[in-house]
Amino acid sequence: MPNINCSFCGRRKNEVMLLLSGLDAHICNYCIEEGHQVVLQEMKPQRTEAKEVDIKLIKPVDMKKHLDQYVIGQDEAKKALTVAVYNHYKRLMQPKSADEVTIEKSNILMVGETGTGKTYLARTIAKILEVPFCIADATVITEAGYVGEDVETILTRLLQAADYDVDAAERGIVYIDEIDKIARKADNPSITRDVSGEGVQQALLKLLEGSVVNVPPQGGRKHPDQRMIALNTENILFICGGAFDGIERHIAKRVNARPIGFSGERRLHESSEKSYLMRYVSALDLKSFGLIPELLGRLPILTHLEPLDRKALLQILTEPKNAISKQYNKLFAMEGIELKWTDEVLDFIVDQALTYNLGARGLRSICESIILDAMYELPSQPGVKEFTVSLDYARQKFGDSKFQGMLRWSDTSAAA
Ligand code: ADP
Repeated sequence: MPNINCSFCGRRKNEVMLLLSGLDAHICNYCIEEGHQVVLQEMKPQRTEAKEVDIKLIKPVDMKKHLDQYVIGQDEAKKALTVAVYNHYKRLMQPKSADEVTIEKSNILMVGETGTGKTYLARTIAKILEVPFCIADATVITEAGYVGEDVETILTRLLQAADYDVDAAERGIVYIDEIDKIARKADNPSITRDVSGEGVQQALLKLLEGSVVNVPPQGGRKHPDQRMIALNTENILFICGGAFDGIERHIAKRVNARPIGFSGERRLHESSEKSYLMRYVSALDLKSFGLIPELLGRLPILTHLEPLDRKALLQILTEPKNAISKQYNKLFAMEGIELKWTDEVLDFIVDQALTYNLGARGLRSICESIILDAMYELPSQPGVKEFTVSLDYARQKFGDSKFQGMLRWSDTSAAA
């Protein structure tokens, strides 16, 4: 039998998975796939200026009610976010050139300790609005030409979240985490190249201020013969978040209050003093922290998230629509087992999260370490209809778990 090749790419039959034959030509699975992409691209309706914007506009009060079902507390941040998001999408709907007033974009900056729900808020808002959403980490981005990711790869992720629908991506939400980590190193802004600081802020600025950016569809470093997708960032909402550790000192200095001390007897007051000061965080403090004014100018909405106290952690564990304890209950219910948590166990879990300073993020791993054995054994034990997690059981499983070692490790690495 003669050697058959794909008439498009020339691959031989043994190099492909499938080779379709026509009258006097053949096509392989790779070329079929590529052809299919071309067809999709070509058949897409042409983008026109007057394209109607299809957005679910939800009023701030209603949006907050939605958020309340998932995110506990953080009322101030929720209010700031819902109003900013509402105005942002109203801006997209403003009729062109009706008058001289143009509503400007309201990108948002959230300041709050890690694990207080910054990412969760941004993600939940995007879910409620049904717009594409992606998370990017500011620390992996570097200036073009340095090792790390180009800033455009942030938009690659958004495009992927939008299934490469450019129109949808252009109305999406991007959450940029750890924005505080790219602060300019205060003392020497110009002696050495600040690869991960000011340079990255400048690169981000390009995205935030609204421009057409060429995005590599598969991410990675740009190279000359790569096909690019042009994405206009003008209507993309950027939400940035960071812990800004130590910013309370800048706030204290600005408002002329005593800076927070380290002396032993004052430690108790530190956290309440810090959270009191954090309420007054302003762009000036962020500037002294090391964010460049141009970037701050593009993040006009500034809001702050409260640290989570015992009551909030307990609520997070039990109340939201997909609260962690409810998720385990559902997993057990699927085995026909009713899972019960005693109040002491819930308190115990919160205690551990507080002791090890893990915040809400630690709740899940603590639960997991307690319930892992039961999840392993019970599915193979027919007849079990109910399982109660008692305090003794929780203490024992938590004590035995690898988690303890992990915690000690994270303790030392956090201290380092
Ligand atoms: P951050 O971005 O502030 O570091 P995350 O939003 O990633 O924190 O929070 C980590 C996890 O903790 C979330 O996925 C969520 O399950 C839980 N969580 C944090 N804060 C809250 C909150 N206020 N209400 C409900 N769950 C929360």
